[in-house]
Amino acid sequence: MMDTAISRKVEPPAIPGYELKQLVGKGGMGEVHMATQLSLQRTVAVKLLKHELAKDDQFIGRFEKEGAALATLRHPQIVSIVDRGKTGDTYYLVMEFVDGPSLREKMRDPDFDTNRALVTMLLVARAIDYAHGRGVIHRDLKPENILFDEQAGGIPKVTDFGLAGLDESHGPAHRHLTQTHVSMGTASYMAPEQSVDAKSAGPRADLYSLGVMLYETLTGELPIGQFDPPSTRKPDLDKRLDGIISRCLKPNPDDRYPTAAALIADLERVVQVSSFLSKSKETPPQRLLRRAQEIGRRVGRTASIVVVMLALIIIGAVFLRSRSDSKRVLAGVELMTDFGAKFPLTSPGRVDKPTREVTIGEGPDTVGLMALGRKPVIDRGVIDFGEVDDEATGRVVIDAEVMGSGVDFSAVVDTQETPAGRLEPLWELFRGRRPDARSALMLLGEHGRYVALVVSGGDTEPTLEWALGPDKRGFMQAPLPVKRVGQRLALRMDPETGELFAVAGEGRDARVLGDGLWLGPYWRQLLGDSPRLAVGCLEGRCVFHQVLVHGLELPTGLSAPPLPRTDGLQDPDQAELKVPKKPVPGKQVAVKPPAPKPVQKVAPKPVPKSTRRR
Ligand code: ADP
Ligand code: MG
Repeated sequence: MMDTAISRKVEPPAIPGYELKQLVGKGGMGEVHMATQLSLQRTVAVKLLKHELAKDDQFIGRFEKEGAALATLRHPQIVSIVDRGKTGDTYYLVMEFVDGPSLREKMRDPDFDTNRALVTMLLVARAIDYAHGRGVIHRDLKPENILFDEQAGGIPKVTDFGLAGLDESHGPAHRHLTQTHVSMGTASYMAPEQSVDAKSAGPRADLYSLGVMLYETLTGELPIGQFDPPSTRKPDLDKRLDGIISRCLKPNPDDRYPTAAALIADLERVVQVSSFLSKSKETPPQRLLRRAQEIGRRVGRTASIVVVMLALIIIGAVFLRSRSDSKRVLAGVELMTDFGAKFPLTSPGRVDKPTREVTIGEGPDTVGLMALGRKPVIDRGVIDFGEVDDEATGRVVIDAEVMGSGVDFSAVVDTQETPAGRLEPLWELFRGRRPDARSALMLLGEHGRYVALVVSGGDTEPTLEWALGPDKRGFMQAPLPVKRVGQRLALRMDPETGELFAVAGEGRDARVLGDGLWLGPYWRQLLGDSPRLAVGCLEGRCVFHQVLVHGLELPTGLSAPPLPRTDGLQDPDQAELKVPKKPVPGKQVAVKPPAPKPVQKVAPKPVPKSTRRR
């Protein structure tokens, strides 16, 4: 796994008996190093619990549980444990070293064809069946946590039992995880019952994750919303897989396969294991021959694709429409697109360093802004992403550094659908329903990390989305709807609890939307060195008024000279806002079947005291 090595600045701690050689992976819990076990002079993997987390009993408990789960398991497709211990303040786990790529990387390999994907998933399912038999539920199955052992002929191995739970039916000593751990899981692969309540996530939660991975490895896409059967995404797929995968992905665990063994029995009917195993040890001439065969097959496939395309045109509009309706990418993911060019902009405002307040609007100071993608008009502090032109997506980053242990970032937001033109029904027939307009308040970190509060012009229940490294991606939809126009929305990081809240309304009317997202006191490290704040807009018109940031400090000497106003400024009096009268179509399923958060329609929670606006 040399190609994924990450260069490090800080020397890793010394672990007695091991010589750490190279950092090979980083996850939410810690770092994994390639190391030599000195007594046996063999290569092993040493996983270190992050220093910051080693002060937290919960994380220590989880780390120890990972060790305990691994110690229970001995299986060729499960990474084996060598040792564990603590030296000074450092907790460590020693495992067998797996030298190959993860399933995530493997999926990009053109040689990783349908049958390889199926064999991999069958082997993973067998490992999970074995683990369930020993009372261990993995709870964080996803492509990043499946590693390929190239030395052993490219067989997959399940790693990262860091969220593992121990099945209740296997004795009282088996403890369960708390809600906190759930927000650390990975929403796309997580069973609905697990995102609602970790305690109710039994072995069948792993079957759901297996279903998501099956779908993704076979089609290259995640099964989102009302997803298509995999065989419509990939026509040469065995149709029996549609039934197998949809049974894994049933929202209600009782409707899924009763056990991993039952899933395996069905999968085995579809998979050709032998062809996969012989491939892994092929000689160069065999490889050439196989390549030639593949090219032949590809030519054949191209011909059949032409036929399928024609058929598609005939089946036509209705099919296309239903297809694009069911696709919905997370707004944050689209907003984090690498737009390439950036446009520096400025706005008048107020920058109050002692109180760490930045206001965009009236004021004596100049606030630097950076526009990416669709360019907004900024006038008297109002950031207005007008109607969609060439570019549907844009974001404006506030050029100020987040200081302090808490942040309060808010704006009055209008989210409006672009008015439908006369030809809209015709377009709709072919392209499907237009995506909803969406506005977002965002906390941005390094390497595409973000947390976003997203409000849609079509569906007024806001969503909190986050991507904080490969292991921490997710979203939750608040059960409380908000107004599409004239609504103050806020992202608040509570400095005391390390919990991030989405808030709607002002003063006494402020209410927390759904649950907080627990990031912990080290939330800044999750985002990288210098978090930034941004507003974003997708598809329609989004207007942000009275943008207010609390808990920020501007880097010294920032105030850039004001730029000439070149961008066709609009008179704000003309910019009259209208509530869209768009009919609400059959309510789209959020991103996964049931909204993943518990319904708490009744009493909105009070705003946490420590972040309440004065
Ligand atoms: P986390 O719980 O922090 O996600 P993981 O156990 O998933 O930690 O490890 C993080 C990364 O380290 C993995 O994605 C992988 O790249 C690498 N890694 C983990 N275990 C091993 C191992 N046994 N051998 C080689 N690399 C490993
Ligand atoms: Mg991991």
